[in-house]
Amino acid sequence: MKSAQSKITAIVGAQWGDEGKGKITDFFAGQSDYVVRFHGGNNAGHTVIVNNNIFKLHLIPSGVIYESPVSIIGNGVVVDPKALLSEISYLKEKGIEPKLLVSDRCHIIMPYHIELDSALSGHQAELAAGSTGRGIAPVYADKMFRNGIRMIDLLEPDILKQKLEKGYAFAKGIIEKSLNKKMISEPRSIFQDYIDFGIKLKDYVSDTSVELYKAHQNGKSILFEGAQGISLDVDHGIYPYTTSSNTAAGHISTGTGVSFRDIDRIIGVVKAYLSRVGESPLPSEIDGEMAEKIRDVGGEYGTTTGRPRRIGWLDLVQVRQAVRVNGLTEIALTKLDVLNGIKEIPVCIDYEIDGSTVSEMPASLTMYRNAKPVYKTLEGWDSIPDNIWDKGFNALPKEIHNYIDFIEQAVGCSVKIISVGPQRHETIIR
Ligand code: GDP
Repeated sequence: MKSAQSKITAIVGAQWGDEGKGKITDFFAGQSDYVVRFHGGNNAGHTVIVNNNIFKLHLIPSGVIYESPVSIIGNGVVVDPKALLSEISYLKEKGIEPKLLVSDRCHIIMPYHIELDSALSGHQAELAAGSTGRGIAPVYADKMFRNGIRMIDLLEPDILKQKLEKGYAFAKGIIEKSLNKKMISEPRSIFQDYIDFGIKLKDYVSDTSVELYKAHQNGKSILFEGAQGISLDVDHGIYPYTTSSNTAAGHISTGTGVSFRDIDRIIGVVKAYLSRVGESPLPSEIDGEMAEKIRDVGGEYGTTTGRPRRIGWLDLVQVRQAVRVNGLTEIALTKLDVLNGIKEIPVCIDYEIDGSTVSEMPASLTMYRNAKPVYKTLEGWDSIPDNIWDKGFNALPKEIHNYIDFIEQAVGCSVKIISVGPQRHETIIR
């Protein structure tokens, strides 16, 4: 396996999230010494299935399921300590003692961030992706306002008190004066709860940038696990229908304190079609019977909410941007099995906007709203041979070879990993 030479590998989403990153990360995680998250919070959701055991993780990297790797929550991640403690308990109940380190520089989600999140969602109305209501946007905003509370502060009561007074007063002002809502949380009980969280989490807290630096110096292998996808990146995505963090590989450096010069492989996970949770225009969206079929076969329902996801054909304008912005060295193409039996598969190669052909994602919301997909229709395949993972890439139907060649040509990046089922072994390495 290549990763024996490549010491640092990153896995990122090349669409709207839910591409199957959990499975691809899990595939590499067992051979890594460290598995690291670099952005987002418990708004992410990974499903990993190992020997028919289903693990649903929101905050802790998927590597935690293995005995060997150390899981790291980097400084770019925002941490709800209550959610973290409950994920630790969930793992312990399943017989896993997490080998976990949490950066001392992580920003902490406070109860007033969650209150602010719900108060803000009415204010943002349609001009936002919708929120998971977990306080992610407000905690990142507080970080930039320099009102934030960091993991290390939970271990220092005097500092926590001082920062809490400032952060709480600021949030209360917005909630009560600007948004005309009543603030429910109250600083004294927050202080006590968060001091307790600090005591419980103390042994996990560490300067993870130094830890990773030393690990790299000593030739250890490190896997960075992205959450969400490129179109949700707060800079490069369809703003403001994005998440509140940078999902792109470039954020690995600032979100973990590991230099981008040291990253060897950057794998973009691309699902063979699209699904989208939340608002925003979606040029290649489809509905009707075909959408329902793909949704059902692909299990495209929200991990937490169970809500049906929107469905669309593969959009190569989006993947082209993912290749460029992330500097992808390769693509992992997932869920090809979901398209089994579809006679003709349209793939969006460009947008047509007001009579012009557009090949790159526009910044203009007007243009994106008016974008019509330009499709190339490819021949579909009936089925994938049984035990294809033992037979290898060449045994795949010729229509899948054509589908893959077409993607590679259109976006300028090789497809090296092919996933044809949710289980770890249902994977072909090319
Ligand atoms: P992530 O957020 O990108 O990690 O995506 P999810 O964890 O939500 O993964 C999407 C779902 O697809 C999970 O239930 C996976 O088990 C499943 N999955 C991943 N790869 C494949 C595949 O190749 N085929 C099928 N049928 N399911 C897959």
